[in-house]
Amino acid sequence: MKIRGRVLSVASECVPLIKTGGLADVVGALPAALRPFGWEMRVLLPAYRRLRGHLGAMREVWREPGLWGGEGVVFAGAVDGVDVLLLDAPHLFDRDGGPYSGAGGDFGDNAQRFAALSWVGARMAREGVDGWKADVLHAHDWQAGFASAYLTYGGSGGVGSVITVHNIAFQGWADAGMIDTLRLPREAFHPGHLEYYGGLSSLKAGLVTADRITTVSPTYAAELMRPEFGMGLQGVITARAAVVSGILNGVDTDLWSPEAEPVPFGVKAMKGKAANRAALCAEFGMAEPAGPLAIVVSRLTDQKGIDLLPAVVPDFVAAGGALIVLGSGDPALEGAMRGLEARYPGKVVVRIGYDEALSHRLFSGADAVLVPSRFEPCGLTQMYGLRYGAVPVVAAVGGLADTVIHASPAAMAAGVATGVQFHPTDAVAFGQALRQLGALFADRKAWAQVQRNAMSHPVGWETSAADYAALYDGLRK
Ligand code: ADP
Repeated sequence: MKIRGRVLSVASECVPLIKTGGLADVVGALPAALRPFGWEMRVLLPAYRRLRGHLGAMREVWREPGLWGGEGVVFAGAVDGVDVLLLDAPHLFDRDGGPYSGAGGDFGDNAQRFAALSWVGARMAREGVDGWKADVLHAHDWQAGFASAYLTYGGSGGVGSVITVHNIAFQGWADAGMIDTLRLPREAFHPGHLEYYGGLSSLKAGLVTADRITTVSPTYAAELMRPEFGMGLQGVITARAAVVSGILNGVDTDLWSPEAEPVPFGVKAMKGKAANRAALCAEFGMAEPAGPLAIVVSRLTDQKGIDLLPAVVPDFVAAGGALIVLGSGDPALEGAMRGLEARYPGKVVVRIGYDEALSHRLFSGADAVLVPSRFEPCGLTQMYGLRYGAVPVVAAVGGLADTVIHASPAAMAAGVATGVQFHPTDAVAFGQALRQLGALFADRKAWAQVQRNAMSHPVGWETSAADYAALYDGLRK
């Protein structure tokens, strides 16, 4: 395959190395998805404590002295098929805890930590590294927002730039007084450039300086220009509407494959699904419900609408449904979920924690996955649901609106429905959607049709990777 170009992806997470959310799935999937289109991608990540074990098997390719209090050394190598560049800067990244926080909450120097990542990314993109010169720098979220700013203010070296917004809720706030520390030009401190409500935001910096802006679904791209979803950045994004686009995420269809689960199943062989359902209920000590077995696999936060569950679960359970929740997050919501479990023994099961293997079993056995988000840039779980015939019941926002075809009378008549959508994100609409799910489930023919449509719906990376390749093609300078 002839190489069309090279992209340096700058990110704070990448599957399988480090993940807190969907961002990691996308960053990890893109390199392989782009290869057939002739785009070669390397991913620059911080060498967090738990990644430093990989450094021994890698080559040193870059040294960056004076990186906010110490030296940064970049190591190159392939980890699980992804070409990664790990930025080892122990004073910034060799810490206990997650990528952004430790036992005491968010790290106080996150602005500098991710400025350092962005700085090294911009420098390597501009100058080339390891005999490899990028055509495009692809920054992800606030953590890499300063990368295109450094290219803009320090010289781009002919490198095009794109920033992808995976979630606008996280904006990378820093005090205005940090502008020198963050190596940004004071003359750019005005509302048209770096200034953001009197301070600095690395995400805004990326949004004003990158050549292109993408987000992870067409609906979220449009929503971001509205105050309810833009979270303060709607004006910035609207001003750049001409370079904004939405490209849906795909899912890794090798990793998420019903044919590869312990009891395999597929659109033409649904017996396996029934066996998985029975096994799942047995695993959790539940009797198999007469109604739908629904799951939630999610961060337990307000964004995800988890607070609506206590209002809708009583009717759902009374109508014969059952629910398994897997997630962690807000302690109050964890408590509310435990409360539901206590109130509906054998009907509601709650597992607090993060468990990838269990999530596979859940999608394999469930009839439906519930995603009542208030906003959802793209969302992955509804796509796993589609692929596994766990019919998605989703709020009609962002990528959820773009990936699920609502079982309206017209869609049912046309034989194209893949799930149930509801709007607005409140308990009344959610409850109504669950009643519709129950009715669909009870109608064997209709149910089989929706499940079949869902499982046949393409959720892989092919289309989206083609869109990214076209975007990069347009950025080659
Ligand atoms: P977000 O990135 O906003 O959390 P997404 O739906 O885009 O939401 O991605 C979430 C990813 O994390 C999915 O791959 C989902 O299956 C996974 N996930 C979330 N919570 C859990 C959990 N408790 N256990 C296993 N996987 C989880």
